[in-house]
Amino acid sequence: MLSAAPISKIEHDSDLPASLTDVSFIPVADPVLGHDEKAALCEVIDSGWITMGERVQRFEQDLARVHSVEDTVAVSSCTAGLHLILHALGIGPGDEVLVPSLTFVATINCILYVGATPVLVDIESISNPLMSLDDAASKCTKNTKAVILVHYAGYLGELSAWKEFADKRGLLLIEDAAHATGLKDVGTYGVAAALSFYGNKNMTTAEGGAIIASDQGLRDKFRKMRGHGLTSGTFQRHSGSSPGYDMIMLGFNYRMDELRAAIGIVQLRHLEAWNRKREDLTRVYRSLLEQHVPEVVVPFNDNYVSSFHIMPVVLPEGVDRSRVIKMMRDSGIQTTIHYPPAHLFSFYRGQLPSAELPTTEDYGKRELTIPLFPRLDLVHLERITDALATSIRCQ
Ligand SMILES: *Cc1c(COP(=O)(O)O)cnc(C)c1O
Repeated sequence: MLSAAPISKIEHDSDLPASLTDVSFIPVADPVLGHDEKAALCEVIDSGWITMGERVQRFEQDLARVHSVEDTVAVSSCTAGLHLILHALGIGPGDEVLVPSLTFVATINCILYVGATPVLVDIESISNPLMSLDDAASKCTKNTKAVILVHYAGYLGELSAWKEFADKRGLLLIEDAAHATGLKDVGTYGVAAALSFYGNKNMTTAEGGAIIASDQGLRDKFRKMRGHGLTSGTFQRHSGSSPGYDMIMLGFNYRMDELRAAIGIVQLRHLEAWNRKREDLTRVYRSLLEQHVPEVVVPFNDNYVSSFHIMPVVLPEGVDRSRVIKMMRDSGIQTTIHYPPAHLFSFYRGQLPSAELPTTEDYGKRELTIPLFPRLDLVHLERITDALATSIRCQ
């Protein structure tokens, strides 16, 4: 074990779950689910109404309150949300959309869904792995229509710089905020932001997502488009408020259901405390890693606004990452990679203009994501840091 580190105690408040009980295996992410979620699901089943209705509405309002916005639109996933945003904004064939290669494939696929062309952009640096403003600027053409910012690991890029970048060129700014649920700045960068409630995100509804957009007309459009472009849904017809319907635009089936909304309402009550705990854990990690494994680069620093979604570290050059992953796993610690650069995947190589993104490639080769979730505590962080130091040094 490591020598005791001079670390401030990690706060505990009643919204936090009990610490991991089975410390033999530490996963990379771990949702907090319990009695309240079970009770909420039973209530929905007993009510006899399971598809989109009043609970989805309540979830949208609760989420709006957490984000200090007027309203939100719940959807079936963040991927669906991003697709709806691009579709509703009329982005399509002939349009180019700037997007980092260092992201989950969903961000890029949504651009292909609407027939537009993804233009992959490099990251700024190993210690600031967000999309590079300079590289984005160099990739603008007369066909560039939009930029999708990805709040990688929960860290936000410079708001005023990106606003100026987009305004100067008349581009639409869209946020992939899958990692940043609960951050009030989300949705203030541009026209719309999509959140994810997948099982490994900061809060979960199993599958699920939401859109934040300040323009009410646009939100109305998202609401129609998530339900096939119809003027009313099953719930409105059932309750007699709108007996028939017209179809007025092309839409999709991207609805959220009452079961997911019920889980989401419970999760939202804890989100702020969970995100604070993630922040505390990140600070402790930074200090432990600096003391005991100074050869790894820990991206970002205390100056970033963040929801502290994941804990990425960058291994020293020349270290065999797959060996580190295996040794960590052998000592009961799961690690993952965020992300294998998208432009190197077989499918995109055949589809997209060839891209040279040297910093993304370097980062993608050396990055390792170590566990971060609210049930972790100081003892786990020490064990993880210890295992990381050992597996890097015994190469
Ligand atoms: C998880 C994730 C998505 C997709 O979210 P879903 O809700 O699973 O569709 C999109 N982008 C990023 C960056 C993600 O991490």
